[in-house]
Amino acid sequence: MVVGDASLDIDTLVIGAGPGGYVAAIRAAQLGQKVLIVDKSELGGVCLNRGCIPSKALISAAHQYEAAKHADAFGISVENVKVDFAKTQEFKNGVVKKMTGGVAGLLKGNKVEVFNGECMFINENEARVFNDHESPRYRFKNCIIATGSRPIELKPFPFGGRILSSTEALNLQEVPKSLIVIGGGYIGAELGQMYSKFGAKVTIIEGMDSVLAGFDKDMTSLVTKNMKKTGIEIITGAKAESAEQNDKEVTVKYSVNGETKEVTAEYLLVTVGRRPNTDGELGLDLIGLELDERGFVKVDHQGRTSIPHIFAIGDIVAGPALAHKASYEGKVAAEVISGMPSVVDYKCIPAVVFTDPECSSVGYTEAQAKEKGHKVKAGKFPYAGNGRSVSLNHPEGFVKIVAEEGTGLVLGAQIVGLEASNLIAELGLAIEMGATLEDLALTIHAHPTLGEIVMEAAEVVMGHPIHIISR
Ligand SMILES: Cc1cc2nc3c(=O)[nH]c(=O)nc-3n(C[C@H](O)[C@H](O)[C@H](O)COP(=O)(O)OP(=O)(O)OC[C@H]3O[C@@H](n4cnc5c(N)ncnc54)[C@H](O)[C@@H]3O)c2cc1C
Repeated sequence: MVVGDASLDIDTLVIGAGPGGYVAAIRAAQLGQKVLIVDKSELGGVCLNRGCIPSKALISAAHQYEAAKHADAFGISVENVKVDFAKTQEFKNGVVKKMTGGVAGLLKGNKVEVFNGECMFINENEARVFNDHESPRYRFKNCIIATGSRPIELKPFPFGGRILSSTEALNLQEVPKSLIVIGGGYIGAELGQMYSKFGAKVTIIEGMDSVLAGFDKDMTSLVTKNMKKTGIEIITGAKAESAEQNDKEVTVKYSVNGETKEVTAEYLLVTVGRRPNTDGELGLDLIGLELDERGFVKVDHQGRTSIPHIFAIGDIVAGPALAHKASYEGKVAAEVISGMPSVVDYKCIPAVVFTDPECSSVGYTEAQAKEKGHKVKAGKFPYAGNGRSVSLNHPEGFVKIVAEEGTGLVLGAQIVGLEASNLIAELGLAIEMGATLEDLALTIHAHPTLGEIVMEAAEVVMGHPIHIISR
């Protein structure tokens, strides 16, 4: 509690307790700083409350449901498989609660002071934080802004009623009979496929020529094949134009190949990207912090903004809007503030999509490596050649490795298939360490594991795989 309106002194103020902010706060405290973290909402930010964690909890539940329905391949017949989606939501909420509670414990254990309220800059060295009960002001030596992002709302599709952002889509209490998704990026593809597995009739309207347009076609074709299996209709090259809703349904008009068409469903999910939280009451304009033309905070290679003792990290900084990027930038900013020579290097930031099958990528694709002037060799090993994936009854997919001709230096990798999200880590490490194909091939991988696919993909590029015929 503050007496009068004198400023309290702290070393580092962290604004926003998402995966960027809370990680930065813990790292700064580990390095001996007196840290205050402020969040106007729940600890854990979008990631733990409205993003990564709840979406993956629901996706896991959808996989369980599907596995129970299709266990016959293993000789197991399960009758009368039913979903109680309210219970599924309870499971998801329980997961979120455990994770956010964990963050609270970590902050406390690292002696980070937490204030639940909104933060506004007063000047370059002071900020006021406030909630319904108090409004202390703090003088800080350094500040890390990590205020994250929110869903982009398009004028013809204002959120409300039957038009949902990802936040509401994660909180439906019943599986919708039908769902239209505008935007086939990773959030639209993940949530659309999850609801389709639970039985919703899903239609995805995407402007590009494929869903998950950032991934190679040979990867996304496996995802779209599976999407079609559960009845998802994918309309590509289409522009959604308007929506009309009543108390039962919503109709979307869209144009494709010069023709106007319409589709009706119980709900519409609009997921066309996210906008950085750099506007509003925070007062970045008041202190003259420089933003780029899209509203992202301009930073240098250490996360430092145009005001040298103020840093910015996570979704408010250009680059992929991903939790692990936010956390990575948070650690770098905390270390720089503590006098360490840390810098951000985005070479090994993995991208993962939790569709079925999963897609992941790290470093360069073959095309990107060539564009960068590398002489490249690349090769794929199929899941079908791996004992573990066949015994798991998931033989679809591949690991592709891109390496430099001559040195064998690993430049990038792309994976589509079961556990692609976990397998990519080894390839990220390979790039980070400057490992070669030979290093991957000489690493003994336990048998039978999916990890062997990585080793064998390296052998494919080297020209001597054991479990497929080398041509
Ligand atoms: C549906 C969905 C699924 C996702 N899945 C994944 C995934 O699988 N993997 C992945 O890597 N990423 C995923 N993401 C993206 C990920 O959630 C974000 O990239 C990540 O949360 C960004 O972290 P951040 O710390 O920058 O900000 P955020 O997590 O957005 O946190 C910012 C925090 O700042 C607070 N704040 C804002 N303004 C103020 C203020 N003035 N005062 C006080 N507090 C303030 C907010 O309340 C919020 O808690 C997903 C996102 C969504 C929406």
